[in-house]
Amino acid sequence: MSIALQDTFVRDLPELAVRWQAEQAPNPTLLVLNEPLAGELGLDPAWLRSPEGLGLLAGTEVPAGATPVAQAYAGHQFGGFVPRLGDGRALLLGELADADGRVRDLHLKGSGRTPFARGGDGLAAVGPMLREYVISEAMHALGIPTTRSLAVVATGRPVYRDTELPGAVLARVASSHLRVGSFQYASLVAGHTGDLGVLRRVADYAIARHHPDAADGDQPYRALLEAVTEVQADLIAQWMLVGFVHGVMNTDNMTISGETIDYGPCAFMEAFDPQTVFSSIDSMGRYAYGNQPAIALWNLARFAEALLPLFAEDPEDTETAVAMAEESLGRFRTRYEQRWADGIRAKLGIPGAAAEQADALVADLLGQMQQSRVDHTSFYRRLAAAARGDAEPVRGEFVDLVAFDAWLARWRELGPDPAAMDAVNPIYIPRNHLVEEALTAATDGELGPLRALLDAVRSPFEERPGLQRYAEPGREEFSAGFRTFCGT
Ligand code: AMP
Ligand code: MG
Repeated sequence: MSIALQDTFVRDLPELAVRWQAEQAPNPTLLVLNEPLAGELGLDPAWLRSPEGLGLLAGTEVPAGATPVAQAYAGHQFGGFVPRLGDGRALLLGELADADGRVRDLHLKGSGRTPFARGGDGLAAVGPMLREYVISEAMHALGIPTTRSLAVVATGRPVYRDTELPGAVLARVASSHLRVGSFQYASLVAGHTGDLGVLRRVADYAIARHHPDAADGDQPYRALLEAVTEVQADLIAQWMLVGFVHGVMNTDNMTISGETIDYGPCAFMEAFDPQTVFSSIDSMGRYAYGNQPAIALWNLARFAEALLPLFAEDPEDTETAVAMAEESLGRFRTRYEQRWADGIRAKLGIPGAAAEQADALVADLLGQMQQSRVDHTSFYRRLAAAARGDAEPVRGEFVDLVAFDAWLARWRELGPDPAAMDAVNPIYIPRNHLVEEALTAATDGELGPLRALLDAVRSPFEERPGLQRYAEPGREEFSAGFRTFCGT
């Protein structure tokens, strides 16, 4: 078998691509392979396990006809603009059509230095690549749009962080790797050359691949902004509902497709608290749990800025363009709030509750959860048990029992449906202490804990015997000091 990869990105957008090749891997060893995803892509798992398949997954063998590239993009990192970021340690191998005919990117992360590497070594360690694998697969199982992980191959090359670590390459699959930063970069190129052609081509490419309906109206580029605003509002609402903290929502890490991308310092919140931050470098809490909707909107405003010259008939007419952008961005808030409200009512088993009543109930609950540091995930399963008649486990989570009992009484009056609650509230998520445990073992060559964790989080809603420890939050001592790291 071989694989036929297309190269539409480099052909349509050569200004955003540098042809490049992965570094050799001294001793490639497959650590994990996502067989269901391979199936979706029409790739034979047995072939992917062969030396030729491993060569593809590690980037050391370029399939006939493929043109691997490092993608150029700009980005606001923690609010500061960096005009030239790009794939410093990643390559787009090409695109392929999946079983449903959808075009997907096949991409490698950790495949060696590229012209965008700046001071970096271009490499990735086994732990962080497996981290992306586990968390992205968990997100997918939770029904949240995300890039997928096809495989992690250990390269046999050491990488040097605080200590020497085994190196790895992640093979990632995405609807595409276009990001807000891709548009920021195209806008810079257009500014330098005085030719809007490249910006228009990126926008047309994005419309064709992700938001084809935008092409129908008389203002396709505004429709593109609105479509991306909507998919991002939906995505962030889903993050908030499961307690996901991305950790590094720079504009280069926000996709045009609406998929979650770049699992670096991300983690799931346990004790409910809007100020939750895990990333060691996010000292100001810019990307804290509760800030994510506002940051998403901020990033979309940067996207709108990049698109501005395409909005009005006269590219110099910024006043009209800005007014158009503001109106389109205005949709974020309504859309986000609706999705959040629908989602939280579903979690509480009261989908039909009147908005005013439900909003007050939710505000009261979240205040109490924050006060008592209640685990965001297990709470909703315990609450379903309360709807079935066993309220003690959930009551035991709260400090102020009088207040919580009053809340429970109001909630019960709305007739919550426990089966509907269990269908939307996960029991198994990749909890921080479990992820750390699995990655530490994997770094030492023991893959058992990783496989067990993957097995648990791949069916997140279905309670199974023997998996109780995957349903429990970490010990407070662990959680309080838990930090994640960027540039890993
Ligand atoms: P990220 O935070 O993973 O989205 O990465 C931000 C930027 O840093 C991107 O341009 C990456 O390609 C680059 N980068 C991260 N780690 C490395 C590394 N070890 N070597 C080269 N570039 C890197
Ligand atoms: Mg990134």
